[in-house]
Amino acid sequence: MIIVLKPGCKKKDVASISKKIEAMGFMPHPIVGVERTIIGAIGDDRGKHKLQVLESLPCVEKLVPILQPYKLASKEMKEQSVIKVGKASFGGGHFSVIAGPCSVESEKQIVKAAEAVKAAGAKMLRGGAFKPRTSPYSFQGLELEGLKLLAKAREETGLPFVTEVINHESVEMVSEYADVLQIGARNVQNFALLKIAGRVGKPILLKRGMATTIQEFLMSAEYIMSEGCRDIILCERGIRTFESATRNTLDISAIPVIQMRSHLPIIIDPSHATGAKDYVAPLGYAAIAAGADGLIVEVHPNPKEALCDGPQSLDLDEFAAFMKRLKEFSRASRKKF
Ligand code: PEP
Ligand code: MN
Repeated sequence: MIIVLKPGCKKKDVASISKKIEAMGFMPHPIVGVERTIIGAIGDDRGKHKLQVLESLPCVEKLVPILQPYKLASKEMKEQSVIKVGKASFGGGHFSVIAGPCSVESEKQIVKAAEAVKAAGAKMLRGGAFKPRTSPYSFQGLELEGLKLLAKAREETGLPFVTEVINHESVEMVSEYADVLQIGARNVQNFALLKIAGRVGKPILLKRGMATTIQEFLMSAEYIMSEGCRDIILCERGIRTFESATRNTLDISAIPVIQMRSHLPIIIDPSHATGAKDYVAPLGYAAIAAGADGLIVEVHPNPKEALCDGPQSLDLDEFAAFMKRLKEFSRASRKKF
């Protein structure tokens, strides 16, 4: 339920209504807007009739039920979130590119990649230190050493970085270093992990699963938000279909659908969506044309030698050329890039 307060309500009114909401067994989530404040009362829908008594309070204008099963993530709760990390902004007309290798391999590799993607216009660095691989015999990531190398690359370039968490232990370790925690496609419905990550107080990049509906995806965001996290960047990275010419099938329609339903920014990962570097640029242009709030792209100084996802990684020159053209598309789609 959304409790809409009258304009001019004081902080102490918000606090006292929040207390009442809590006493009725709901969690209050105040959102202070320019014009007015609203409070989301989140909890078990079966008891929501109890909240009706709030309507008689002098500073309450009205009560509006949230119809979607995802409450905090829904557009009914908030018009638009803009997530800012360093110089990167996602949502509300802002478009930023995150780029870097699939996984951190060495200091030379990550620093070189960071310098090049920054020079080309990327606003955030990516790089896996904990890798959820399909095969237990594949490279699993440098773990703590990888985090330290990412921190070094940040020191050298000023770029904030995002890296993946795969379990409870990695959340603890990663949140000491990273600017943004990534939850990957394979963990999108690992509800225990979503809850732990939601308590850390860092922004989260949540990837859609390969077999997750948009509604399930938004419910996963809701899990994170219900633990107090407000800064979530959603990422469409391709879903499983019958098509085998590409690694996955990019669901481009997820962009407008999510933007109709949620205030959270939605970015596109054309690298994992296709699995082939030749398709990364065309889908990147398609994404910005369709209104995406950003991209995450795999870039490696030497893709042929990459320990992970080399075939889908752009080299440094290819990435620079891609960014140049992407800027032209950003003007046509009126994105601040
Ligand atoms: C990644 O970004 O490195 C990754 C493993 O992506 P996904 O979870 O989308 O497969
Ligand atoms: Mn990868």
